[in-house]
Amino acid sequence: MFRSQRVRSVFLTGVLVISILAGAGCQKSTRSKETATSQSESKETTVTQSESSETVAASSSSESTEKQESSSEIKETTKPTSDESSEDEKLKQDALKLAEELGVKEEELHGKYDLFIKYTDCINQNTDLGFIEDYVLHLFPVLADHLKPEDESFFFSRLSNLKAVYGESATRSAGEYHIDDNMILMNELGDTTECFANYDTMYHELMHFIDHSVGTYRSHVYYTGKQFAHGEELTDQEWGGEYVSLEEHFIVEGGADYYTGKYYRKAIDGYLAASFLSGIEWVYGAETVDRLFFNSDSTMEYIRLLQDAGIPDQKIVDSIVSFNYETNNRYDAPENSVRFEDILIDLYESKKDTGWKDDKVFMQILNEIHAWTLSLAEYPFTHEELNSLLLDTQALEKKSQNVMDQIDQRTSQELIHFFKLILLDGKPYLSETLFTSDEFDRTEPTTLIVEYDFDQEKVISYKYYVPDYPKWIN
Ligand SMILES: [Zn+2]
Repeated sequence: MFRSQRVRSVFLTGVLVISILAGAGCQKSTRSKETATSQSESKETTVTQSESSETVAASSSSESTEKQESSSEIKETTKPTSDESSEDEKLKQDALKLAEELGVKEEELHGKYDLFIKYTDCINQNTDLGFIEDYVLHLFPVLADHLKPEDESFFFSRLSNLKAVYGESATRSAGEYHIDDNMILMNELGDTTECFANYDTMYHELMHFIDHSVGTYRSHVYYTGKQFAHGEELTDQEWGGEYVSLEEHFIVEGGADYYTGKYYRKAIDGYLAASFLSGIEWVYGAETVDRLFFNSDSTMEYIRLLQDAGIPDQKIVDSIVSFNYETNNRYDAPENSVRFEDILIDLYESKKDTGWKDDKVFMQILNEIHAWTLSLAEYPFTHEELNSLLLDTQALEKKSQNVMDQIDQRTSQELIHFFKLILLDGKPYLSETLFTSDEFDRTEPTTLIVEYDFDQEKVISYKYYVPDYPKWIN
């Protein structure tokens, strides 16, 4: 049953001990020859809209520059000679043939044919993957979108020794990713008949695996009262003084749910920080969230983002402490609490303008954060007007009902909670997971995705989404 999903998700944890592995992977390190058209291609096959992300906030100027640079780079390096062209075509045909044999769709390859062949070779050679092998196979789109060529060797070294076991977890979590052991532990006490729950949990844990396998450099960040610095940058004198150690726990967990939602669940659920990351995407664009999550220096990325928005250092520290506490209350309660909503508004006003109250998509994100906040719920807002502006859970459920009233309800399945915002290819939708029957049925929808006119509060179109389960699940 899904009724405990909120509770379950809250306890999904990874063990945050960092281990950097060196050494060769199981793969040859030939350079990728993909033509790299795939980054902008949609993997979304279930929503009818094909518009690109023009309606989303413009990317920052630095992002635009990066994009231009990379596209001109691609043009230069991909002018094929006829030999290269036929070689590329052969590679493509080989990859497509392999994909078909394995039950992977062409659109999952995102045009990265060479990488896909290397990826499947590595999976084949790893005999410890066991019951997660097919899940890992369908993880490829995430990798295709986020693995940089310079990180390939490290990634394949990690993939070559990734393993999975069923067992009893030390926490109450349904699944765990153990970084040191590079191992996914699925809690065998969990109800294994609930295939969508397992599917969902599995991809959450695999996002932790990717997060820790696409970047080779990690260093802890400290705040000395004067500056943020990596450990190796601190002098002996600074080590002797007072400093605060900062972790990006809320990005790790929120990001795992955010990407599981975008690629697999098609709904944002679980850790509250996932909705916070949707807010970051709405303000800055998807590339900024990618940089926060997949960058191996996530904490410093977050700090720089807030510093660039003019947020004072101490408030940045307090936000990290607060958000980690909200994400997992094994972290200390903040002395000076900061709410997710206040930081998002600060960022919005810095990046866009002061008109956030009239931005219905942004308000939807603030509302769902407000309704889901547990640990920080008693703390005051900096923007006091939020007290009268924000909707509570009941009001959001009523809004969801209004949406449902505009929909031809083809199933007796109900929403688990209320509609929440998800950005698919930069376009905002309302979506929510559905209660599923006890008997697993791979044709049963798990999510209702609604294309919505947020200003007029009208449904434009909707889709009952059925996940593309790995073929062996039954
Ligand atoms: Zn987790």
